[in-house]
Amino acid sequence: MSANDNLYAHFAAALDASRACIETPDGGAWNGADIARHSARAANALRAHGLAPGDRVSVIAEKSLEYLWLYLGCLRAGLVFHPLNPAYTARELGFFLGDAGTRLLVSDPALAARVDPAAAACESLSGTLTLGADGSGSFADACADSDDEAPVCPRTGDDTAALLYSSGTTGTPKGIRITHRNLYSNACALREAWGFSADDILLHALPVFHVHGLFITLGPAFLAGTRVRLLPRFDADAVIDALPGATLFAGVPTYYTRLLANPRFTREACRDVRVFISGSAPLSEATFHAFEERTGQRILERYGMTETGINTSNPLSGARKPGAVGPPLRGVGLRIVTGDGRPCANGEIGEIEVRGENVFPGYWQLPEATAAAFDAHGWFRTGDQGHLDDDGYLFIVGRSKDLVISGGLNVYPKEVERELEAIPGIGEAAVFGVPHADFGEAVVAAVVADTPLDESAVLATLRERLATFKVPKRVLVGAELPRNAMGKVQKNVLREQHADLFTARA
Ligand code: AMP
Repeated sequence: MSANDNLYAHFAAALDASRACIETPDGGAWNGADIARHSARAANALRAHGLAPGDRVSVIAEKSLEYLWLYLGCLRAGLVFHPLNPAYTARELGFFLGDAGTRLLVSDPALAARVDPAAAACESLSGTLTLGADGSGSFADACADSDDEAPVCPRTGDDTAALLYSSGTTGTPKGIRITHRNLYSNACALREAWGFSADDILLHALPVFHVHGLFITLGPAFLAGTRVRLLPRFDADAVIDALPGATLFAGVPTYYTRLLANPRFTREACRDVRVFISGSAPLSEATFHAFEERTGQRILERYGMTETGINTSNPLSGARKPGAVGPPLRGVGLRIVTGDGRPCANGEIGEIEVRGENVFPGYWQLPEATAAAFDAHGWFRTGDQGHLDDDGYLFIVGRSKDLVISGGLNVYPKEVERELEAIPGIGEAAVFGVPHADFGEAVVAAVVADTPLDESAVLATLRERLATFKVPKRVLVGAELPRNAMGKVQKNVLREQHADLFTARA
């Protein structure tokens, strides 16, 4: 590690001043010198708000080039970057800003109806800036008025670089502290594992409020001097148009099913891509095989989570096994244990535990939840269930947390159940995921009601209270929920009963 373990210092050392490192669909290109200048301006614009290293900067905005300057400026100024999904409701945003103790809020004025009430209730807030979807706003204005030079704030590897939230089994979101060391070590491991180089062009269509788009793809790219071709969002046609020349593509499984549904997506369309990477949710074997048939390429699937970055990856050269997420990355310790902590034999299913520099140090201001998540030897309990084969490849079989992953976004059943049960007439609710051709999994609710229920009215109420991606696709009313002898709702039974809700069995 260098004298300054600030992640930005590592990026700055790697980026070539005169080579294009970022390009946008309108033909714009930014080299390493441009990145240094824009991140310096952003750091100065942020510091002008009287922020001190370690202060949280919350961001609720669409993906743009300026969003990247803001991220890099936060790193450079030693501030904690706190990105939020712009789909959150005012109530959800209010919780995140309050819990994070946000000092500065950067938000899209188009979202004011949801953001303003949350900001008004946030007592720690000392300033706001705007960042529109086109990059304009008071953040860009402040950058334009700022100096081109800025020091890189000295940080140790243990200092927090970013704060991202994930809901737990209780449905209460927990802040995940991600350090400069976590990000640097994982970016180095990924650069090596996926062979990122200055000769690559990464086509980037992922959202940047999530680890996948922000750290897992941009981290190794910036460290390797890989050119990032930035798209504002995933759109199958736009991706196909931008593929020529691109050598790397990373996405969630939904991207791959949508590309396959597009007749323009052919072997010829992706001739320059040397590897397609998938993660954030399980890639079905059917998609893996259909993709190989169409393009001649085997998708490289990897496994990670916000708390750990990437843990395992199928290899660049060597067997990419359908249904497997590969062996652990260099520097990542991984084991499978039974409920009572006994190591599992190969083939035996247990909970996946990981340890290494990639693993976060703990939840934000939640010492008890942190203590419960780690064992005495520092192994992090992922909550995912899996097994290893004789080649050391990991297979994920489920989630002990019952998380639903729809379109690559996590939906925690408990949170949706709570909202359903608050609706008059609904006695109890169970939320679960079922296979869906486009989203991977669709959120579905089974409820017990003591009066006749209008499904569309229930859904309309939920839409006011939850981000759209969490709202069930169907609310099924029944006389009772299946329960085991201990009275616990059997979600596995519900999942089986409704497995064909969106996919007709062949
Ligand atoms: P997140 O923190 O949003 O990245 O979500 C992490 C969770 O996504 C993990 O704990 C897994 O349950 C799931 N996940 C990520 N990658 C995969 C994968 N390749 N296959 C199956 N599940 C995955």
